[in-house]
Amino acid sequence: MTEKGTISIHTENIFPIIKKFLYSDHEIFLRELVSNAVDASQKIKQLAQLGEYNGELGDLTINVAFDKKKKTITISDNGIGMTADEIKKYINQIAFSGAAEFVEKYKDKADNQQIIGHFGLGFYSAFMVAKKVEIDTLSYQEGVQAAKWIGKGDTDFEIKEGKRKTRGTTITLFVADDSEEFLEESRLQSILDKYSKFLPIKIKFGQKDKSVEDGKDKDGNPKYKTVKEDNIINAVAPIWAKSPNDLKDEDYLSFYKTLYPFSEDPLFWIHLNVDYPFNLTGVLYFPKLKKDFDVQKNKIQLYSRQVFITDEVKDVVPMFLQLLHGVIDSPDIPLNVSRSYLQSDSNVKKINGYITKKVADRLGDLFKNDREGYEKKWEDIGIFVKYGMISEEKFDEKAKDFALVKNLDGKFFTIEEYKKHIKINQTNKDKDVVVLYTTDAAAQHGYIETAKKRNYDVIELGEPLDSHFISHLEQKNEKLQLQRVDADVIDKLIDKDEKKESVLSEKENESLKKIFEKAINNTNNTVTVQPMAADDLPVTVTLPEFIRRMKDMQATGGGPMMFGEMPLNLSVAVNANHAVSRKILKADSNEDKERLAKQAYDLALLSQGMLTGKDLTDFINRSVELNLN
Ligand code: ADP
Repeated sequence: MTEKGTISIHTENIFPIIKKFLYSDHEIFLRELVSNAVDASQKIKQLAQLGEYNGELGDLTINVAFDKKKKTITISDNGIGMTADEIKKYINQIAFSGAAEFVEKYKDKADNQQIIGHFGLGFYSAFMVAKKVEIDTLSYQEGVQAAKWIGKGDTDFEIKEGKRKTRGTTITLFVADDSEEFLEESRLQSILDKYSKFLPIKIKFGQKDKSVEDGKDKDGNPKYKTVKEDNIINAVAPIWAKSPNDLKDEDYLSFYKTLYPFSEDPLFWIHLNVDYPFNLTGVLYFPKLKKDFDVQKNKIQLYSRQVFITDEVKDVVPMFLQLLHGVIDSPDIPLNVSRSYLQSDSNVKKINGYITKKVADRLGDLFKNDREGYEKKWEDIGIFVKYGMISEEKFDEKAKDFALVKNLDGKFFTIEEYKKHIKINQTNKDKDVVVLYTTDAAAQHGYIETAKKRNYDVIELGEPLDSHFISHLEQKNEKLQLQRVDADVIDKLIDKDEKKESVLSEKENESLKKIFEKAINNTNNTVTVQPMAADDLPVTVTLPEFIRRMKDMQATGGGPMMFGEMPLNLSVAVNANHAVSRKILKADSNEDKERLAKQAYDLALLSQGMLTGKDLTDFINRSVELNLN
């Protein structure tokens, strides 16, 4: 008996629209059909467990095969199967209300690429690649008839008695002419690898050729023969679905290797596991980042019940956590809706917050329980922690307790520890605690030495992100200032209002200033003569902290743009108490005075790494003259 009828949907011509819509993502048909087969297989297992099915479960392996000559792809399971009535109910009367509405809404949108892949079409996605689809199925229920359904991608279908003898369902796709790429073994293999690697029911794809040793030839060399072996797609167990108690470090590491075969071992990992108020499991790995801030994103894979969905997790995972690797699995992330909806989805927001908190807690634990180990990893995780602090308020609240700074002696401090450490010696007249930092200890060596003479401490903050981190610290910590060691003369950087006596008279000061101004001959620079320690440098050239910081922040993005063309306004501080100052004032001629002043100024530039080109050549020539004549 053959029955003919019409599939009830709202939009008559929905198939062409579907086909057009999912154009660039046709491959997901296989994900959908294999997922259906997995569901059907898990259902029969459940029924058996509940005692509602008493037959043999048998081998539940799902077989995916293709036939290049017949141009077919088959997906075959031993799941619960369907009766003819169930086919009518589940396949014919497709719940297309949602789909029809969706297609209606988005069909004119230019950004339809974005929607693709987030819209699960289920069984009907088969028609993206097939001109005809057959379902051969036998339900698990006793005494029912096998059923066969034939559809051709329009709204007509045919349903009749089937011939299938064993429980389960076989879907046969008769591949359309424009989709023959899906009859290539390698293409099918890669689609299965991508979406089905961690499914809970065994998936077998055709057979693989394997070369094995087969005796020796007459010269005693090994002979080889080709044998066929089962090609199991999901041979690796998805460790995130297991309990952390059942897993050892090796398990996490070897799973990491299967996900990212070419990556170095991760530093550590976090096993995520919640079931309320949403469902989420997963394992996030901290990769070695080093200074290479330009890391690969899209390393986190998003699954829904072990079916791969996407590696674009930017709506689900906070920005700074996208530097991590690993997998997240949640059936509660609404995958079949558009992206703008995803962003405003309350589950997604909660998941975001949860992951942030878990990561912060894990880092906090590491810090508390193994500070030494944590400090060793700081080089790798520091950039990540700082990025998180700057970009996520919630993360910052926790991370401020385990964010570290390192001083030039290689000692690590939390921010609070460090404040305590320098408070006595580095508090200025306004009661601000002043942190001195260097971005390049070699280039700023002279300034660091001057700071050390005062017993001041200097920390390293030279990463590209640090200019932002410095501003962040100042914003979050009242009465805390950060100054680069070369931003001013040391007694101005930490101004304690201690008056130093000058050995020069007012008049001498004034003429020294004039000599320097003439020698430097650059109106952008400001010259001052100040009484400093006799063993401080004779001349110090500095770029004010504020201007330099703007420039630094521009370089890494962010910060105002108005300083683009600004000249380098240098501050030139002449040490009134240095022997050189007296020597300049006492020189015989004005020419000699200016020559010595220029020499002292160039030395200061040299120590800042700012003396180049003709100025450097002139300096070298002058040095030769001054020393050898
Ligand atoms: P969804 O899987 O989202 O429910 P589908 O269009 O993929 O939507 O499938 C509709 C229904 O058809 C399924 O819910 C299931 O009841 C039935 N079905 C599909 N494939 C199979 C299968 N291989 N075995 C048994 N039932 C199936």
